[in-house]
Amino acid sequence: MSARRWLMLAAGLALLLAAAPASAGNDREPGRVVGIAKREFTAKGLSRLGLDLLLETEGRIYAVVTPDESAALAAAGVRFTLEPDRFAPARPGPVSPSGDINGAYHSYPEIETEMRLLERDHPGLARLYELGESLEGRRVYGLKISDNPDQDEGEPAVLFVGCHHAREWISVEVPFLFGRYLLENYDLDPAVRQLVDAREIWVIPVVNPDGLEYSIHVYRYWRKNRRANPDGSFGVDINRNYPFAWGTDDLGSSAVPSAEDYRGPGPSSEPETRAVEQLFSGRDVGALVSFHSFSQTILYPWGYISSPAPTEPELRTIGETLAGLIAGVGGTVYAVGQAASALYLTNGDLTDWTYGVSGIPSYTIELPPVDILHGGFFNSEADIAAIFAENLPAMMYLAGSASQTGFRRVIRKPELRRLPADSPRTRFPGKVIRIESPDD
Ligand SMILES: [Zn+2]
Repeated sequence: MSARRWLMLAAGLALLLAAAPASAGNDREPGRVVGIAKREFTAKGLSRLGLDLLLETEGRIYAVVTPDESAALAAAGVRFTLEPDRFAPARPGPVSPSGDINGAYHSYPEIETEMRLLERDHPGLARLYELGESLEGRRVYGLKISDNPDQDEGEPAVLFVGCHHAREWISVEVPFLFGRYLLENYDLDPAVRQLVDAREIWVIPVVNPDGLEYSIHVYRYWRKNRRANPDGSFGVDINRNYPFAWGTDDLGSSAVPSAEDYRGPGPSSEPETRAVEQLFSGRDVGALVSFHSFSQTILYPWGYISSPAPTEPELRTIGETLAGLIAGVGGTVYAVGQAASALYLTNGDLTDWTYGVSGIPSYTIELPPVDILHGGFFNSEADIAAIFAENLPAMMYLAGSASQTGFRRVIRKPELRRLPADSPRTRFPGKVIRIESPDD
């Protein structure tokens, strides 16, 4: 077939997909994983269709497709295989003794309850704050852990953030368990006491509460928040919505609302993004980790360009130290690299923003497994404790080594893309709000 006919086919397929009701497909029916030969994928220009790609291996490309998308692929004569078993959750269905649909993983109400209990049980060390409110009215919580938690003692703050992406459930557990570990071991372990006394440690386990609940109850593969987009699709990728180098190009994020990496109508357009921003902007943060899954990789800025960051040697050295500490626990190897080259281009992500505006060591840690053939987004419940344990020394090290040198060092302020006139861009005005006691 001539190149011209391939192009026509791809254009027709794009039309078919565009005509499919995105909201119905994305929203009420679960997607499924399909495999397509890479040769066919490339020849038919399927990369332009904005499918939710999972991985490429052994000459095949795997993607999550909605029923509308798979129907359109079939109608266009694309040969694909359904992959119901290979990519199934390790333990589908209700798994915990209590019958919770998400088993040992925390839902939003469960994490809310647990965070309140931590504050109640450790009143001298923990304070729970509402950093902001999601689109559907859920709170984005931050737990501050320090001695004298009501006072601003000018200690370096360190942030551990999880669940920008709804389906990455393990990224909720690791920062939450770190907070709990610090509180429960303060009286037992001198190293923990020393750290907590000298730092202000913030854990934000769920940046994206609406997406997490949607992933648990409706569609396991959901990634974005639950923004209702003008074209009928849903969701902005919160980790493409931060205001540093936002929307630099269409490789590191998408301008298409139905795309999985849609960056939103403007920088900081999403309340979940602004919740994290205002916490960060209000204090001297010395280091930050944003947890994701999967791929067992430690990534540092830049993500938006492939050229090295100004302090690249330092970022790499710290990253390699973190990986060494992780490997020292149980031998799990996390790769280390600059985000743009080790993973793929990303713009508007949290770590480019925190590094870009302040120069602090900022890391994205992609938790296990190493690839989708080992479970992808579906970590077994039985692995939660081990994944936390292997990350614990690295988190202790980074929190301990965070210093105030280099704070507020503006490295570069890239030109931001002009906003469409109607895009929401109200800055979050408030201070951190202390929420009421757990007994209310
Ligand atoms: Zn992620």
